[in-house]
Amino acid sequence: MALRVTNTLTGQKEVFEPLIPDLVRMYVCGPTPYDHTHIGHARAYTIFDLIRRYLELKGYRVFHVMNITDIDDKIIRRAKELNAPWEEVPKKYTEEFLDIITKLNIKIPHVMPKVTEHMEEIIEFIKGLIEKGYAYESHGSIYFNVDAFEDYGKLSKRKHREEWRQEEEVLKEKRKPYDFALWKKAKPGEPWWNSPWGSGRPGWHIECSVMSSKYLGEQFDIHGGGQDLIFPHHENEIAQSEAYFGVKPWVKYWIHVGYLTIKGEKMSKSLGNIIPVYEVFKKYKPEVLRLYLLSSYYRSPMDFTWEGLEQAKILYERLVILTENVKKILREENVPHRVRYDVRAIAKELSSIRKGFYESLDDDFNMAKTMPYVHRFVSFANKVLEYKPIFPIALLIMEFIKEMNIVLGVLDKHLVPTTDVEKKLNQVIDAIVKIRHKFRMEKDYKTSDWIRSELAKVGVKLFDTKDKTTWVIEY
Ligand SMILES: [Zn+2]
Repeated sequence: MALRVTNTLTGQKEVFEPLIPDLVRMYVCGPTPYDHTHIGHARAYTIFDLIRRYLELKGYRVFHVMNITDIDDKIIRRAKELNAPWEEVPKKYTEEFLDIITKLNIKIPHVMPKVTEHMEEIIEFIKGLIEKGYAYESHGSIYFNVDAFEDYGKLSKRKHREEWRQEEEVLKEKRKPYDFALWKKAKPGEPWWNSPWGSGRPGWHIECSVMSSKYLGEQFDIHGGGQDLIFPHHENEIAQSEAYFGVKPWVKYWIHVGYLTIKGEKMSKSLGNIIPVYEVFKKYKPEVLRLYLLSSYYRSPMDFTWEGLEQAKILYERLVILTENVKKILREENVPHRVRYDVRAIAKELSSIRKGFYESLDDDFNMAKTMPYVHRFVSFANKVLEYKPIFPIALLIMEFIKEMNIVLGVLDKHLVPTTDVEKKLNQVIDAIVKIRHKFRMEKDYKTSDWIRSELAKVGVKLFDTKDKTTWVIEY
């Protein structure tokens, strides 16, 4: 079945078809690095990583661009609070952001343009909008003339002008309360750049119109961000870009990620309920947070709970143990290689799980529908491997783990091809575990527990069942 995507612009679930065959051009609004990256940001970026990975799994090539808003009111305000040079703020928090997305195994976008490095292009774009009659100068600032653009409100479905009001602090300068700034006249003590209209800096929305088209062209496939960006940010981006390029639609699919809430409330400074990602990393591995953030349907709001993370941890550990178990079977020499009578039935169930996995992802990347297949797979594979494992079954299971992990992205450390040295190491650990097993069977628990604790010291964790022990290396 074909992949279907919910498009905010049309409000419909549509069959996905990129403008250029096989190549998907995707722009995701990046961070304004003025404070710590929190779990709401982590959700949005993990979701766009899921989208990119699934498109790649389906055979598309994805060209992924994400901006960094390294100059903005929030950054200037923060620098004043910290009494630091303004440049220090985006530098520090961009580093943190990149560290976090790397730990979350989010594929790094191919281009990450910064506003401060695109001033010339931004000024050119604004000049063009003035020439075409879509923008005007007032008090040294430039504003977009919303009345000149007839489609305003089509993304956010706001039909009435009263719903368009924005940037109230400059009401006196604007012709209409819903016009928005493209260029802001410099205020004393604030960073500024030269322009034909005097010194100043760009408004927030113009950067995304400029930098997305610079790299992706005048029309592209996916533009995404959090749900809170629909109005005014994305609405304004459409107005600027469709006015400037004279194309419609500027972007084919608009994708928005739902809110991440805490006890049903939006995270905010005033409520004091913001959870920075580094706080979660103190208690849980990035893989666990990633798996948790992937577990719901991206358009639905997600209410963050520590219990939910605990559940994700259990699933993550089961996935790791299964992977290690299969690896062990595949490297054992005395495992039967002959196809047994029961292989057909096992392969049939695996194939049905695999089909369900793809079908639910094809349905608008719906992970809430996909996760039950992951659970079903882990339970089934564990059951199958428990009794007399054979090579061809282990092979089927391993191939599906790899395929699934292209999207889940939590088992990479356990799926790297082993070197000869690692192979030897695995055999040595297998031997130690075998020796311990002998002590266990002889009920010499003192010795077996001592071996367990010595192995734990070097990061080898053991899991005992009635008559078997499996192990994983904790990284
Ligand atoms: Zn943007």
